[in-house]
Amino acid sequence: MNKPTLGQNDTIIDTKIESIKRPCNDIGKEKKWSRNCPKCSKEIIYKTKSQKTYSSKINQICKRCSYNSRMTSVVLDRYCPLCNKIIHYRSKFKRSHSEKKNTKCKSCCIKGENHSMYGKHFSKDHRKKLSDSHIGQTPWNRGKTPFVRDEAKNK
Ligand SMILES: [Zn+2]
Ligand SMILES: [Zn+2]
Repeated sequence: MNKPTLGQNDTIIDTKIESIKRPCNDIGKEKKWSRNCPKCSKEIIYKTKSQKTYSSKINQICKRCSYNSRMTSVVLDRYCPLCNKIIHYRSKFKRSHSEKKNTKCKSCCIKGENHSMYGKHFSKDHRKKLSDSHIGQTPWNRGKTPFVRDEAKNK
């Protein structure tokens, strides 16, 4: 530090220089990078010049416009294969899933003849088979001491 001892006058000069050094403190129009959205012509403000030049290069639209276009481009409707009624889906995933499974609309699903188990009943033989299949399997809780609370033991 070659600076001489700081007197009161020196500090005043220092602060003056600092205020001159920082022109970005006052937000002038030069420091604001902005362009207008090509769709809604709303002003889009960018923090840096490079951001602005890049977005103008790719003709970027504002956040709101991009959101709207995204929402409209995704078709979340499909037609019921039975009654041709429009089925709305909340997400793209649900729609593609139901398309794969070829699901019908709600009102069609409720109808008895379209139910997967309509007219079908498990025969007695089938039920016996089911119960037989469980024979020989050890239940998960066999041989385990039941959990008793310490408080209950003391009582
Ligand atoms: Zn816009
Ligand atoms: Zn239907």
